[in-house]
Amino acid sequence: ATFMVTMQLSAQNKHEGPYSDKEAWNYAQNTVQRMSLEQKVGQMTQISLEFFLKTKDGQVIVPHVLDTPKLKEAIEQYHVGSILNVGGDAQTVENWRGIITEIQNIAMSQSLKVPILYGIDAIHGNNYTLGSVMFPQQIAMAASFNPDLIKRAGEVSAYETRASFIPWNFSPVLDLGRMPVWPRIWETFGEDPYLVSVMGDSIISGYQGNNMADKYHVAACLKHFMGYSMPLSGHDRTPAWIPERELREYFLPQFKSAIDHGALTVMVNSGEINGVPVHANHHILTDILKGELRFKGFAVSDWQDIEYLWQRHHVAKDNKDAVKIAVNAGIDMSMVPVDYSFSKDLLDLAKSGEVSEGRINDAVTRILYVKYKLGLFDRPIGNASDYSLFGGKEHQQLNYDVASECVTLLKNKNNILPLKKGIKILVTGPAANTMRSLNGGWARVWQGTTSDETEKDKNTILEALQQRLGNQVLYAPGTEFDSSTKEGIQAAVDQANSADLILFCGGESSYTETPGNINDLTISSPQIQLVKALAKTGKPMVMVLTEGRPRIVSAIEPFMQGIIDALYPGNQGGNVIADILLGKINPSGKLPYTYPRFTNALANYYHKYTESKEFDINGGYDPQWEFGYGLSYTTFDYSDLQLSSTVVSDNRPLQISVTVKNTGDRKGKETVLVYASDLVASITPEVKRLRAFKKVELQPGGSQTLHFTLSKKDLSFINNDLKRVTEPGDFTLEVGGLKQSFVVQ
Ligand code: BGC
Repeated sequence: ATFMVTMQLSAQNKHEGPYSDKEAWNYAQNTVQRMSLEQKVGQMTQISLEFFLKTKDGQVIVPHVLDTPKLKEAIEQYHVGSILNVGGDAQTVENWRGIITEIQNIAMSQSLKVPILYGIDAIHGNNYTLGSVMFPQQIAMAASFNPDLIKRAGEVSAYETRASFIPWNFSPVLDLGRMPVWPRIWETFGEDPYLVSVMGDSIISGYQGNNMADKYHVAACLKHFMGYSMPLSGHDRTPAWIPERELREYFLPQFKSAIDHGALTVMVNSGEINGVPVHANHHILTDILKGELRFKGFAVSDWQDIEYLWQRHHVAKDNKDAVKIAVNAGIDMSMVPVDYSFSKDLLDLAKSGEVSEGRINDAVTRILYVKYKLGLFDRPIGNASDYSLFGGKEHQQLNYDVASECVTLLKNKNNILPLKKGIKILVTGPAANTMRSLNGGWARVWQGTTSDETEKDKNTILEALQQRLGNQVLYAPGTEFDSSTKEGIQAAVDQANSADLILFCGGESSYTETPGNINDLTISSPQIQLVKALAKTGKPMVMVLTEGRPRIVSAIEPFMQGIIDALYPGNQGGNVIADILLGKINPSGKLPYTYPRFTNALANYYHKYTESKEFDINGGYDPQWEFGYGLSYTTFDYSDLQLSSTVVSDNRPLQISVTVKNTGDRKGKETVLVYASDLVASITPEVKRLRAFKKVELQPGGSQTLHFTLSKKDLSFINNDLKRVTEPGDFTLEVGGLKQSFVVQ
C-alpha cells in the first residue's frame, strides 16, 4: 500500500525550487483567500503523532501504525496543518517514510491540497530515526569553535531528516547558555552571544542550504524566543527577570542574525519574563519579532504552552481566554494539545471578533508561505532512492571528525596525556560504559538512549579502549551516578592496585528539560567518594568528564593529573575520547562557557569589574576554568599583535593582525580569540567581550599571521535608551594574552 501511495504522490513532482519569497508569499495569500475559517484555524493547529497511533485497550500497538480514521478526521474535518514528534521510541527510516506518506496522501487528496508540515527535534542529527548519525550536542559543537565543520553537521542532519521525509527541524537552540544549573544548557551554543550567533548561522546554513525546497534540506526553527535560558532558580520553565536592555544586549542578537540569514520559523519561550509569560507577550512576539526583526515566517508555541497560560501561569481564566491572548500576542501555530480545543476555541473567537480575521489570515499566510518555500505543495514526500548516504560511512566519518574537535583538554600535568604505551589502565566510573553520557538527551528517546543495545555499532569509552588496547584495560564501574556501595568502590580500588593508571569517567547521565532540574551543581557524591578512595592508592589518575552542564569538580580536581571534558560528544564520543587519550587525535576544543569553581559563583567571562576578584577579595570571578580555555598536546605562541591604526571611526575600521606559532612537536589546531574591552561607558562595561575568532591548523614549527577586522559597530552595546551605540573613548584589545590600546572616535 505504501508503495502505491508513493507512486501517486511523486507523480505530482513539478518544481525543485528554490521558490522566491514573492512567489511563495503570493501563493500563500491567494490560497488563504480561498479558505474557510475552519480551514484556517486548522492550519494553525499542530498535533502530536502520538494522538494518531493505533491503540488497543488504550495501549499503542506499535509506534508506526496509524489510526487511519482518526487521522482522516483530523485532516478532513479539522483541517489540521501540522503534526510533530514521535509516538515513543525512534523509528526505522522505512517506518518514518510510511507514516509521512500516509499523512501526506490524505492531506493532498483534499480539495484544497495543502500538505502537512511535519516537525521533529533532530537536534544533534536526526536522532529519532534509528541508524541515523547522532552528532555531539550543541554545547559540544560550540566547543569546536569551528563553524565550517558545524555547517557540515547541519547538512548531514538535514539530509537524514529529509531521508525520513520530514522537512522541518526544531533546531537550533539560540538561547544563551549562561546559567549552568539550567538542565538545557547543553542544548545551547554556550554563554557568549557572538559565539552563539556564529554557530547558529552556520548550522542554519547547513540545515536550509541555498534551497530549502531541495531534497536535502529542511527548515530550521529558532528556539526558544526569547530569554528562556536564564530562570532565576536555574530550574526549567520557571520565572526569569531580564530587563529589556539585557534582553537586547545578550539574548536577541543571535535571533536577529538567524532571521537575517533566512530562518523561517521560531518556537516561543515556555517561561515567563518579568512576570509575563512569553506566550502572552505581544511586545516580544509582535513588536520585536515581526516588527523590528521583520520576521516573515511563523511562530509556533512550545509544547502545550497556550493551555498553560490558564493551567499554570494563571494569566487567562480558561482555555478560550488563553487562545485569545496567545493568538493576539502573535502566536501563529499551537503545538498540541492532543484534541481540538485550540481550533474550536479559536473558531469561536474569530466568529465573535475577539480575534480578528486579519490576524488569522496573517498567521495562515505565514504558515503556507513556509510550506511553499519548502516545496511541499509540489513534493509532499521524497523518494527513498535519493538517500543512499543515510547513516552510512561518510556521515559517520563526519560525525567522528566533528566530535574530534569538540573535546577539551583541561589539565595535563607533567604531560600525563597522551597515555604512555604498554601501561595497564583501570577504567572506572559511572560514565565509562554507557552511551547515555555520550549522547545526552534526545537520543532515540526524549530522555536519552534507552538501552545501550540500540547502539550496538557504537562504542562506549570502555569498549573503545578495549578495542584499541585489549587486555591492558581493566574495568570496574566503581559506582553509579547516584548511588554507591562499599563493595563496588572496594572492587575498583582493588583493581587500581594492579594498574599503572586510573581513568575515572564521570559527570552526568542524560536528561532533558524539567526532569533534569537539580538543586546542587556539584558532581554527585558517590563519584566524589569513589575518586577519594582511588586517590589513596597513589596511582596517577586521569578524569574524563561527559556532562551536559559544568558539574563542580573542585573537590576532586586536585587528585587528577589529566582532565578531559567531552561534554556530550555523541555516538562517536567513545572512539574519539579513546583516540585523544592515546594521542591519535590532538585535542582542540575550548570551553564554550565559564566552568564554575563554587556552586554560587556563577559569573560569566564577560562579568562586570565589580564582580572581579580584585574588587571582592572573598569571592568574585574565580572560575575553575575560563570560557575559551582548552589545552593541546602541542604549544602555541602569540606574537606581533598589530593594529592598523589606534583610532577607529565610522569609516575607519580596526584592522588587526597577530601571528600564531606552533612551538611544540605535534601538529595541532588553535582557536584564536579576539576580545575587546570598553574601558569607560554609560552602562558599566563588561570586563571584555569576544568580538571575533578563527581556528587554524599548524604544523610543528609552523606559524601563520591572522587578520581580523572590527568595525565601529562591532564594538557597540545597548545603552539605557535601548539604542545600539558605540561610545567614543578608550578600548583595549586582547588576543592570546597580548594587549593593545585604541581609541574610538
Ligand atoms: C521543548 C522544545 C521541543 C518541543 C517539541 C518542548 O518540550 O521545549 O524544545 O522542540 O518540546 O518536542
